[in-house]
Amino acid sequence: MEYEVVIGLEVHAELSTDSKIFCSCTTEFGGDPNTHCCPVCLGLPGVLPVINEKVIELAVKAALALNCEIAEYSKFDRKNYFYPDLPKAYQISQYDLPLAQNGYIEIEVDGKKKKIGITRVHIEEDAGKLVHAELGGYSLVDYNRTGVPLIEIVSEPDIRSPEEARNYLDKLKSILQYSEVSDCKMQEGSLRCDANISLRPKGSKEFGVKTELKNMNSFRAVQKALEAEVKRQKKILERGERVVQETLRWDEARGVTVPMRSKEEAHDYRYFPEPDLPPVVISKEYVERIKSTLPEMPQERKERYMKDYNLPEYDAGVLTDSKAIADFFEACVEKYHDPKTVSNWVMGELLAALKTKDAEIDDIPLTPSHLVEMLELMDKGTISGKIAKTVFKEMIETGKRPEQVVKEKGLVQITDEGKISEIIEKVIKENPKSVEDFKNGKEKAIGFLVGQVMRATKGKANPQIVNKLLREKLQ
Ligand SMILES: [Zn+2]
Repeated sequence: MEYEVVIGLEVHAELSTDSKIFCSCTTEFGGDPNTHCCPVCLGLPGVLPVINEKVIELAVKAALALNCEIAEYSKFDRKNYFYPDLPKAYQISQYDLPLAQNGYIEIEVDGKKKKIGITRVHIEEDAGKLVHAELGGYSLVDYNRTGVPLIEIVSEPDIRSPEEARNYLDKLKSILQYSEVSDCKMQEGSLRCDANISLRPKGSKEFGVKTELKNMNSFRAVQKALEAEVKRQKKILERGERVVQETLRWDEARGVTVPMRSKEEAHDYRYFPEPDLPPVVISKEYVERIKSTLPEMPQERKERYMKDYNLPEYDAGVLTDSKAIADFFEACVEKYHDPKTVSNWVMGELLAALKTKDAEIDDIPLTPSHLVEMLELMDKGTISGKIAKTVFKEMIETGKRPEQVVKEKGLVQITDEGKISEIIEKVIKENPKSVEDFKNGKEKAIGFLVGQVMRATKGKANPQIVNKLLREKLQ
């Protein structure tokens, strides 16, 4: 039997506010344990929460960027559960009347556009962090993260493969970064994802029994966990057994999903309206005002790159995936008016280097003017394209200006025909066989000879001049 995979994702994103959701404590990541706390976020008796207006603003902004309808009236609820990372023993969240609903994200599947529905976006507070002692026996709790504002973005079960899930997450992250509502740093927990997954016979309208996956620390892990879960559920169904509805934890090291706890029902949380906070009433004017502050989104930017810079769709897509990369590219093009050349360097050398280093562009000392100055040195003939790659690598590592790198490493291109001629004579003498081959019509032989000259000059000879002189001498 053929099965269809049904996936829904729940993403938590920390909002980029300076202070927490109901108090004035800092939201800064890290810090000594329990130093970013006050009676409000510690849930001490007698305190009252006050909503941070910036939270509403950023949440509305995110929801608009995700094409949602903003509710004119929404409210906060208490979600009760007793756990050490939650000092109040309840979390303030939104239950039946969320801030926003009915949005979508457009992803690309096999070159075709597909809309993934967004059920809802709601606001809630983050919990603290438990640190389990390595040898077991006890755990420590750090409340610095308690009360950091979150939005939860719940997708419709529209996702049909682990790959689509990855695609959706990449797009979502890009949109949240573009709209500047979250820094989306997964390594700091600013972005977290849980997944629901079930299988059903192809063509069936009814959903199968789903499991919930947790503890995935990267988008790659989400994809891998989903792939493992598809296999596991398929085996169960093929044996004629039933999948048990439960929460599973992704064990990255072993590459398997393991049971965590049976799934709570909504009534286990005993949701009820938060009596200490007024409802959130949002006017149409407010929504319009926030809408007007939304910056250009990745799709619009991509189209502008194709139109204004005459870039191929592929280039435009790669460059605009990340806002930081797109900003870097545009800063270069402002000073260096050959978008395609800049695009080649950004998509090629720069992205490759960032991938190898597993770094973001802000983590390296390279600036747009570094790249522009390097391209200008190439145009002047000071360095060849090959040397430029060496210069580029050095700039990424050290942040030195290209001219300084060229000077320090003696990388200036050799364009002196007399000097190049001398080397060519030597190469001809040392490679009589290739010379003979060329004279007998083997065009390929000249490539080998050019290579020998470049090697002798450590790649510094101007390749056009080498080619020209070599042909002259051989004919
Ligand atoms: Zn506080």
